[in-house]
Amino acid sequence: MDKLVIASANEGKIRELREMLEPEGYEILSLKDLKDPFDVEETGTTFAENALIKARYITEKYGLTAIADDSGLEIDAFGGEPGIYSARYLGHDTPYEYKNKIILERMQGMDHRACRYVCAIAYTSPDGTEQVFEDTCECEIALEPAGNRGFGYDPIMYYPPYRKTIAEMDDEEKNQISHRGKALRKLEKWLNEQD
Ligand code: IMP
Repeated sequence: MDKLVIASANEGKIRELREMLEPEGYEILSLKDLKDPFDVEETGTTFAENALIKARYITEKYGLTAIADDSGLEIDAFGGEPGIYSARYLGHDTPYEYKNKIILERMQGMDHRACRYVCAIAYTSPDGTEQVFEDTCECEIALEPAGNRGFGYDPIMYYPPYRKTIAEMDDEEKNQISHRGKALRKLEKWLNEQD
């Protein structure tokens, strides 16, 4: 079975990626399995650069194939912020209930609520192969939070085609339409073409 390390410390992401990749026959290893402190600085200026930095770190250190996700939320009314700074926005350890509340307050009275999740998934392997796959999930900032599934900004991400927030979807439903699910399916398609 092919081994893949998920180069992420974010439990929400790991769960989603694992759920999508294990049925495809991959043995998934996490940073916990490697007991790796993962002190990687995300110094890139794009999602793709940061995803590559994280995946390369694992491949170079352990000689193992790795995938890393760099993702975030772009809000049009905020000029695309928080973007690549989504995890650090309003403080890395600030609870998302608070971050989401502040976003809703800043959006009060605004009609143009378009926003999107963006995800870049990087794949790096010891033979030097490097690929990045990107996709988005177009949403609107909800008028109020709803739902308690998912993680992070999901309760305020309203997905118009389903008339609910991403936090109101179960994992399977979210994976069908999410930035991460769509980027991962691009990676899977590419992996199948390599066989
Ligand atoms: P990263 O770990 O540096 O890529 O930061 C990603 C951040 O973007 C997360 O910590 C969340 O704040 C946000 N984010 C990305 N994808 C999602 C998602 O599917 N749901 C909720 N928040 C997300």
